[in-house]
Amino acid sequence: MMAEKVRNLIIIGSGPAGLTAAIYASRALLEPLVIAGRSPGGQLMITSDVENFPGFPESILGPDLMVRMREQAAKFGTDFIDDDVTSVDFHSRPFAISVGNRVLHSRAVIVATGASALWLGIESEKRLMGKGVSGCATCDGAFFRNLPIAVIGGGDSALEEALFLTRFASSVIIVHRRDELRASAIMAKKARENGKISFIWDSVVKEIKGEKNVSGIVIKNVKTGTESSIEVKGVFVAIGHKPNTEIFRGQLPLDEKGYIRLDGGSRTPVEGVFASGDVHDHRYRQAVTAAGWGCVSALDAQHYLEEHPAD
Ligand code: NAP
Repeated sequence: MMAEKVRNLIIIGSGPAGLTAAIYASRALLEPLVIAGRSPGGQLMITSDVENFPGFPESILGPDLMVRMREQAAKFGTDFIDDDVTSVDFHSRPFAISVGNRVLHSRAVIVATGASALWLGIESEKRLMGKGVSGCATCDGAFFRNLPIAVIGGGDSALEEALFLTRFASSVIIVHRRDELRASAIMAKKARENGKISFIWDSVVKEIKGEKNVSGIVIKNVKTGTESSIEVKGVFVAIGHKPNTEIFRGQLPLDEKGYIRLDGGSRTPVEGVFASGDVHDHRYRQAVTAAGWGCVSALDAQHYLEEHPAD
């Protein structure tokens, strides 16, 4: 194993939270290292036009926004490793972070590994991602003005997405695999009372149809086995998210769904380790809120390092 110099700050993750933290920390001359992952950039890399990130009235493509954030962080002296962290040791100081057989040490760490949307896992979903298939109504709903949309899922997220989408869509069909919603009663009531929303129960999506863009879905009733086609122009998959926290199990306290628990601000209960963005925030999950958390965590880390000067 190869040991390397002790860093002031290592940031794990390169979505809006990690890169905003890097911009702030590098401007504070902390010379941060971002371990960006093998697929850098986070969830915005699978988004097309971003119309709600302040400062881009003409909109910007998700991947382009991430390239610009990374350039901004690099400009102020952030280093990058485009590889995955394989394990961490937050029990000893300086903290140890392994990337394959490289062991890196740092006095402070910001965890910004985000969350991954769960997907149906069918081939057509992947092929039509960003071409009518989306995981974010707030981001993409406005592209479906006066068009029919399907939302997949039966939890609060699915209903929240469906209710939001009624602002734009001509109709919203919620496809749920059971005949009972998982969502809270109040959300279920709102959805049932909305004239644009209808439900298809006991059904799973077999295929999303379309060449260049989504044109419909093929669904299968799990009780009868009957297959049918529905014409829709958008498919919003809202079957839950999974925080990317597997490598932090046993190192940081996680809640029952795996999100990192915080102790105020961006501080985790491990002094010197901070968490930023969707890895702890399952409520707002926006690029701009993640970026805001990135700023918070960089300022928290900066104060921590000032209060704990290197020996
Ligand atoms: P969730 O509660 O886990 O619901 C996921 C839904 O997707 C379930 O209905 C599930 O079906 C369905 N599903 C899962 N895998 C599927 C698959 N492979 N194919 C088809 N359907 C599948 O997730 P969530 O809705 O994202 O909510 C997460 C948490 O955030 C919850 O605690 C929720 O209350 C909270 N939340 C709250 C609000 C709010 O209060 N406004 C808004 C959003 C989220 P089954 O029901 O059959 O398991």
